[in-house]
Amino acid sequence: MHVLGLTFSEVCEALRPHPHNIPALRRAYAAALRGELSDDLLQAATLPVVRQQRDGDLIKFVQRLTSGLETESVIIPMQGRQRSWRTLCVSSQVGCAMGCTFCETAQLGRLANLSAAEIVGQVAAARQVFDADIRNVVFMGMGEPFDNFDEVIQAVRVLTDPMGLSLGKSHVTISTVGRTEGIRRLAALGWRRINLAVSLNAPNDEIRSRIMPINRVEPMDALRDALLDYPLRKCQFFMIEYVLIPGVNDAREHAMELVEYLRPIQCCLNVIPYNPRIDSPWPAPSEESVLQFIDWVESAGQFVKRRMTKGRDFMAACGQLGNRELRPRSRSAKVELGMAK
Ligand code: SF4
Repeated sequence: MHVLGLTFSEVCEALRPHPHNIPALRRAYAAALRGELSDDLLQAATLPVVRQQRDGDLIKFVQRLTSGLETESVIIPMQGRQRSWRTLCVSSQVGCAMGCTFCETAQLGRLANLSAAEIVGQVAAARQVFDADIRNVVFMGMGEPFDNFDEVIQAVRVLTDPMGLSLGKSHVTISTVGRTEGIRRLAALGWRRINLAVSLNAPNDEIRSRIMPINRVEPMDALRDALLDYPLRKCQFFMIEYVLIPGVNDAREHAMELVEYLRPIQCCLNVIPYNPRIDSPWPAPSEESVLQFIDWVESAGQFVKRRMTKGRDFMAACGQLGNRELRPRSRSAKVELGMAK
């Protein structure tokens, strides 16, 4: 369970301030992750997978933390013109404090921040347990990554270190609800190749504040200012996520207002057909309305893509992660934090 007398968590901690200054640790750590050492360290790096669900090549898996809480990750098959690969959607927290009304994870509240080791452990599990060729990692699972900034950044260091998991930074995407302080801290790191996605989901403050409480604190103008200040490379763009919810944000005037808001931002709009959470007041949008919305924004000159729906049947799609059995625990956590509604 140890390399050079250190657990996986301790290795991550030791690497934290100066990842390039501890070559022996890095070599041992990298060798273990490549399977050149015994399986012991891999076990340390890989929390037990206690459940899994599959739909073809899409796999949702659950790992149990020592606290008894659980984290969830999704292996997503990707198909290009000439090759196929796997993207791993990782969680940065158990639950989430952001309270987006359309999101299943929000129903838990925030139960825990994951450590860098627990985040990297999700990638190790995908590779070791499921033999998945993970080429991309997206922080789009449970949690708001900038609510757990230091651990997420340390995890990215380990994932992208040439002696670690050696992913290119351009293969890592951090998705935020729009925490401007986190956006500015990420910019200050100077990681020009890392991808940033922003969960926008509304064309104006009135709608966004209704479905995303963060907007009452950090409205859309402040968010846009932070994005415009971000040192984006010429060929790079932000991914602006827009969960299309019937009757909430899917009308033609919403499409036009959205395009105007996005006009100064170098971005690709990613339209995500809403995946209903448990007890959702809204249904999923019809295929026709999704295509119509995409046509409106595209005709108005906005670069747009559509997120294909995968895993909706077993709550593995975007916005559907979170074990509802943890909800009683969530309520008591909220009481402890003085957050009970
Ligand atoms: S959408 Fe993201 S930020 Fe909002 S509650 Fe869900 S996990 Fe948290």
